[in-house]
Amino acid sequence: MSRIGINRNKARLKSALGIRARLVLFALILVGPLMAERIRSLHHDRARQIAAASREFAGIARHSADAQREVFASIEAVLKSSAYIHTSAAQVQRSCAIMRASLRGNMPWLRSLTVAGVDGVARCSTWPEIVDNQFNFGDRPYFKQAVASGEFTVSDYVFSRLTNLPTVMAAYLAPGETRADDAVILAAINLDWMSKLMSNLGDRPGVTALLVDHAGTVLAAPANNAAAVGRPMEDLSLLPLIAAKMRNSQRESGSLSFVGDDGMRRAVSVATIPGTSAQLIVSIDEAEVTSNADHNIRTAYIQLAIVCLFALLGALVVAERMIIKPIRAISTMAKRFGRGDWSARMPRNSLPAEFVPLARAFYGMAAQLRGRERELRASNEQLTVLASVDMLSGLANRRGFQSRLDFEWLRAQQSGDHLALLMIDVDHFKLFNDSYGHPEGDACLARIGAELSALADRVSGFAGRYGGEEFCLLLPATDSARGSQIGEMVRTAIASLQVPHATSAHQRVTVSVGVAAAAPKHLETLRDLLEAADAALYAAKRRGRNAVVEHGFVRDYDTAVSLSA
Ligand code: GH3
Ligand code: MG
Ligand code: MG
Repeated sequence: MSRIGINRNKARLKSALGIRARLVLFALILVGPLMAERIRSLHHDRARQIAAASREFAGIARHSADAQREVFASIEAVLKSSAYIHTSAAQVQRSCAIMRASLRGNMPWLRSLTVAGVDGVARCSTWPEIVDNQFNFGDRPYFKQAVASGEFTVSDYVFSRLTNLPTVMAAYLAPGETRADDAVILAAINLDWMSKLMSNLGDRPGVTALLVDHAGTVLAAPANNAAAVGRPMEDLSLLPLIAAKMRNSQRESGSLSFVGDDGMRRAVSVATIPGTSAQLIVSIDEAEVTSNADHNIRTAYIQLAIVCLFALLGALVVAERMIIKPIRAISTMAKRFGRGDWSARMPRNSLPAEFVPLARAFYGMAAQLRGRERELRASNEQLTVLASVDMLSGLANRRGFQSRLDFEWLRAQQSGDHLALLMIDVDHFKLFNDSYGHPEGDACLARIGAELSALADRVSGFAGRYGGEEFCLLLPATDSARGSQIGEMVRTAIASLQVPHATSAHQRVTVSVGVAAAAPKHLETLRDLLEAADAALYAAKRRGRNAVVEHGFVRDYDTAVSLSA
C-alpha cells in the first residue's frame, strides 16, 4: 500500500476515534464489565438453582419411593403371611375366614385379598363377588409369573374385571401339600392410596411426579395430575433413557437430564420400587423452576442495553457539552481575533473550568497581538512618511510631492482656484560638484532644501525635491502673478545664501525657476501644468540662468537683481 493510502487510512481511523467515540468507548468499558459480571452471576445462580432443585426433588423422590416401597413391602408381608396361613390351615374355608379377619385391620392400600387355585379360579376372597362369579385369574401374566417363579409378583396397570376399576395386582404362590393344593394369594392394590403417598410432590410448579409401571402406564400421581393415572406417561421416550441409566449405574435411584419432545430441558430423578417393576419418576422442568432466574436474566440484559444506551448518550452529551462546544466557541473567538475583532470574548460561565485557562491564554495572546498590531501600524506609518521624505534636503521626495500635487489638484478642481507650480533647478551644479566635490554638493543641496522649506512655510506652499538638483514648490490658491512673485522670492533667497560657485558666471550658487499657474478647469490634465512649469524652467535656463520665467512670458532678472548685493 502506498504511503498516501496509509496516511489516508490513518486519518480515517483518527476521525472515527474522535473525542466522542473515545468517550463512548470509555463509558462502555466502565459499564460493560460490571453488567457482564452481573449477568454471569445470574447465570451462575440459575445453574445453582437448578442443581439445588434437582437435589431437593431427588431427595423427595427417594422418600416418596421409600413410602411406596413400604407399601409394597407390607403387601408382600400380607401375601406371604396369608400364604403361610393358607398352607398351614387344614381347610380352605378356615384359611379364608382367618384371611378376611386379618384384612379387617386398617390396610387402606389393599382393596381385596383373594385366594385362587393354580388353575386361576378364585376360591375365597375378601370380596365375595369374586368367588360368587367364579373368577379365573389363570390367563393373567402376573398370575402365571407368580406360579412359575414362586416369587412375590406385582402386575402392571390392569383393570379389575369385577369393578372395572384400575388397579395393580400383587400375587404370591402358597405351596400346598400336593401340587393340587397349591394356591396363589392375590391382592388388589388401592392406587388412590399410592397417589396420596405422592401428595407432597404435587404442589411445586414445574415438577411432575409419576409412579409408572414397566410399560410406562401411570399407576399413581399427585392430586393435581390425577387425570394422568391409567394413561401412558406423556414422554414415553424417557423410559429407554431411564432404563439405560439404571442399567449403567446399577442403582435403585438416579437422575438424568434430557431435552423433551417440546424442546424443554428437564432434570429427572428416578427411584425404582424394589421387588416391583414400578418406578417413581420426578421430572423437573428447568424452564419453570428457573423462570424467576430467567426473568432476572432477561431483566439484566434489558438493563444492560438501557445502561449501555444511557452511557452512549451520556458520553455523547458530555463530549458535546464539555468538549466539542467549548472548543467550537473558542475557535469562533480565535477566528474573530484573526479578523482583528480584539473585543471577542467568551460568554460568562459558558466554559467548563478546565477550558478557562485556555480561554485566558487566548485573551492574553489577543492582547499581545493587538499591541503588536498597534506597533506595526505605527512603524508602517513611519515608513510611509520616510518613504515620501528626502533625507538629504528634509523635503518631500518626488513620490511625496507627487501625492501632494494630486491632492491639491483635486482640491483646486473642487474649489475652482488656481494652482501654481514652481520648478527650481540649481544652475551649473555639475560644475559645482566638479569644483568642490560631491559632499560639498550635498551640503549645498541641503542648504537649498532648508531655505525652500522656510520659504514654503511663509507662503503656505509645499516644497519638495523633484530629483537630483531639481526642486519644486507647490502653491495652492495662487495665480500666475503671485506665482512669479514667489518664484522671484525663491531665486533671491538662494542667491542671497551666497554659496560660492567659482565656475559660475554669478560666482555663487543660483537657481533658475519655471512658473506655471492655472485653474484645473483651464487645463486638460495635471501633466499639462507640470510640462508648462518644465518648459518655463527650460526657458529660464536659456535666458542665461538665475532667472524666473513664467509660462507665457519671460522676465530677465539679470538686470533687476544686483549680484553684488
Ligand atoms: P544647468 O545649469 O543646465 O542645470 O547645468 P547643471 O550642471 O546643473 O545640470 P546637469 O544636468 O548637467 O548636471 C546636474 C548635476 O547635478 C549632475 C550631478 O552630478 C549633480 N547632482 C545631481 N544630484 C546630486 C546630488 O544628490 N548630490 C550632488 N553632490 N550632486 C548632484
Ligand atoms: Mg537639472
Ligand atoms: Mg542644473
